[in-house]
Parts: sequence; structure tokens; C-alpha cells
Amino acid sequence: MGFHDECGVFGVYDHPEAANFTYLGLHSLQHRGQESAGIVATDGTSFFQHKGMGRVGDVFRPEDIKDLKGRSAIGHVRYSTSGKSTLKNAQPIAIEYSLGKLAVGHNGNLVNIDKKRRELVEHGSIFTSEIDTEILVHLIATSRKPTVVDRIRDALSQVNGAYSLAILTDKQLIAVRDPYGFRPLVLGSVQGSPVIASETCALELIDGEYVREIEPGEILVVDSKGMHSEHLEPAPRLAKCIFEHVYFARPDSHLFGRGVYETRKELGRQLARESHVPADVVIPVPDSGVPAALGYAGEAKIPYEMGLVRSHYVGRTFIEPRQSIRHFGVRLKLSPNRDLLQGRRVVVIDDSIVRGTTSRKIVNMIRAAGAKEVHMRISSPPTTHPCFYGIDTPTREELIGANMGTPEINRYLGSDTLAYLSMEGLHRAVGSDRKSFCDACFSGAYPIPVE
Ligand code: AMP
Repeated sequence: MGFHDECGVFGVYDHPEAANFTYLGLHSLQHRGQESAGIVATDGTSFFQHKGMGRVGDVFRPEDIKDLKGRSAIGHVRYSTSGKSTLKNAQPIAIEYSLGKLAVGHNGNLVNIDKKRRELVEHGSIFTSEIDTEILVHLIATSRKPTVVDRIRDALSQVNGAYSLAILTDKQLIAVRDPYGFRPLVLGSVQGSPVIASETCALELIDGEYVREIEPGEILVVDSKGMHSEHLEPAPRLAKCIFEHVYFARPDSHLFGRGVYETRKELGRQLARESHVPADVVIPVPDSGVPAALGYAGEAKIPYEMGLVRSHYVGRTFIEPRQSIRHFGVRLKLSPNRDLLQGRRVVVIDDSIVRGTTSRKIVNMIRAAGAKEVHMRISSPPTTHPCFYGIDTPTREELIGANMGTPEINRYLGSDTLAYLSMEGLHRAVGSDRKSFCDACFSGAYPIPVE
């Protein structure tokens, strides 16, 4: 099994501010990965690149951006769970091969690739990183096909999994989305120049316009002749990630044709319809629970309040690679609003429970602040299965929803009641027909079997 990456990609073609726009785009996609960031730019002849560990604002100094010359660029933000936080795994990966220069930024996760990697090594390939993206780069470089687009197609026909790709050559910007459509990828434009981004929120910051989604299975090629699309072999089904709507994407993005914020509010409304409980206040776990709590409060006609205050000066606690830091992080990040909680019956809304460690601490904190009752409401079903398609999740052993039923989890958390959103409610709120979304993290129904 390869790395479980959570990532964001961005690209712009033929604009004098290519590197600046990419830098800004990556800022907007920072929630998709905080471990490393990188940009590769081209002036049509050479590649210029800068990558580093950490957040976008820390990785790039003004002089680094100035050195990223040229009118086209791609960028990448990355987070991986496996503990190996090293620069060699940072993207985009840039190489020189028989057809010229190539850089690849990948959001997603390829599955069942150990054999492919072994084959490549047996044929003399040398790997410098542990990431699955490098396998793609080798397959493109060693393909016998005449053009880079043919080679990309050839390489992708040999792998399976989730991939939204931003690819840069010295002459082209290429966007690819896997035929299942697991991860999002959109086309936009800024002052007439084409832009690609994981999420629409990246277009907002650069005053760009949204054009359309890159379709599942589409290879979009942008070069001096304009734009054209080719298509990969269709997948047996579509599998758009439902968890992007639940948690991962930014609420101001439009995803798979729907506003994320409104979808999350609807998840909350649906939750209120399914598991209403008499209470005095509805509070979110900020920031992930905010839109669903607004929806819940509106539907249940219970006041919405800020019962927990979040410090914005610590990172996402989940994102810390070491367990010990994660535990401490909850206290660092969230503080109870005692005046509000004292003597109240409180409904607490969060989007998901993963290990249960955060929720347990939160319930504890709210009780210690004097709440009379604590009712946990979760705007998605129990997370029972790990994701192999690009969302970072722990193993099944670590997933509380895989190992305990709801009453047992309720006892573990120390809440008075606990209710999750139903699977039907989830699909209804997301506007899903059930066939075109992947809900494997909640159902175990993996669209691509994982070896
Ligand atoms: P836990 O204590 O492990 O149950 O953590 C639950 C919290 O993690 C919730 O507030 C979620 O919003 C958040 N969360 C869920 N999935 C992820 C993920 N893949 N990456 C980071 N945070 C997540």
C-alpha cells in the first residue's frame, strides 16, 4: 500500500503572474495539505522550482517566487500520514526525459501498485521518493508512445486508483481526472488565461472565473494552439468522494456541481430531522462542525451559539503526525465558553468521529464547564473503513466506528446521547443518486477492490 495523501493541486497557463497566482492558489488549498508545498514554473525552455516542508506561507519567500520565472506553473500542497515527513516526498515531481521536461502534481492515491513498482525496479528504474506519483512519472518516461499525451494515457492505463493531476511540460499544461472522478478538479480562467485547481475557492482569491469541472476520465491539454480534451477508458461506475462534501473541501467551494456550505447545512438539517433532542443550545465543534450546526439549529429551532472558541494559532490537531501531540492539541485548540455552557442542555455538532479521541476530550471539556446535558450529533454516518483513495484515515483498528456500536461509543465519549446521520440522510443531503458517489469510509463498499 502506498502513502495516503491528502493533497491539493493548482496550475496556470500563459500568464505573466503565473508563479504568484500559483502561490495564492496554494494558499487557498492549504486545508488540503500542510506538510509540504511546491511550485514548478516554466518559461517555455527551462523549469524553475521551489519546494519545502511546511505551510505555503513559510515555504515561499518573496525572492523564491521571483525566481520561479515564466508564464506557466503548477503547484502542490501535501499531507501524508505515514510519519515520513521528508522533502523528497514533496511535489510537484519535476524530471527531464526523452521528450523534454515534465512536472507532475498529484491529488489522490493509486492502489495495487506494489507489483508495478517492483517491475519498474527490475527494469532499472531508480526511485527517489516513496510516493506513488513517482511510479506514474516512470511509466510516462519509459513509455514508447510518440507524444507526451499518448504517454500519459499509456501510463494511466497501467495503474488504478484516485488521481487528479496537474502536469506541466515546457510547452503544455495538462489536467487529468481519473475515470471514477474520486477527487475534484476544476477548470477556471484568470484574465483570459486557463487555470486548473482542486477546488473553486482557489479561483476566488485570484479573481478568476469558474469555467467547469474537469470531467471524470478527461485529459485536458492546454498549449499554444488552445485547449483540447481526450478521454480515458470509462470506469465501471463513478465514485465521487462524499467525504469531500462532509469534511475535506473548504465550505466556500463548489464541488461536483454543488456548494459545499449549503450541502453541509443540509446535512445538519437532515440530522435534526432524524435525531432531534430537547436542548437549550446548539454548538459546533469549530470549524468543521459550523455549517452543519447552523443547519441543525435552524431546523430544530434551538439557538446556535459559540460554545467552544477555537485558537487559530495552532494547526489542525488531527494533522499532527505523532499521537502524543495530537492529544495535547485538542486543549490547545479549543476552549469552552463557560458563561454559555453553565447549566445548559447542549447539542454538540461535528462532521465526523475518527478515533474518538477529540470528541471524548470535547465532551469532557463541555461537562467540566458546567453543561447539564451533552448530546453529540455527527453530520455523517460512523466512519468504519479507511480510505485508499486520497483521504488520510487511520487503520480499521484505530477507527472507533469500526470497533464499537453507537451506544458503546456514547459511553466512551461520556455524552448523554450520541447520534450519527443515516446513510440515506447523507446521500439525500449531498444530492447523490448513490451510484455515482464513493461512500466506502462509511460503508466499506470500495469501488476499486484493494489488495
Ligand atoms: P477523532 O478524535 O479522531 O475522532 O477526530 C475527529 C475530528 O477529526 C473531527 O473533528 C473531524 O472534523 C476531524 N477529521 C475527520 N477526518 C479527518 C481527516 N481525514 N483529516 C483531518 N481531520 C479529520
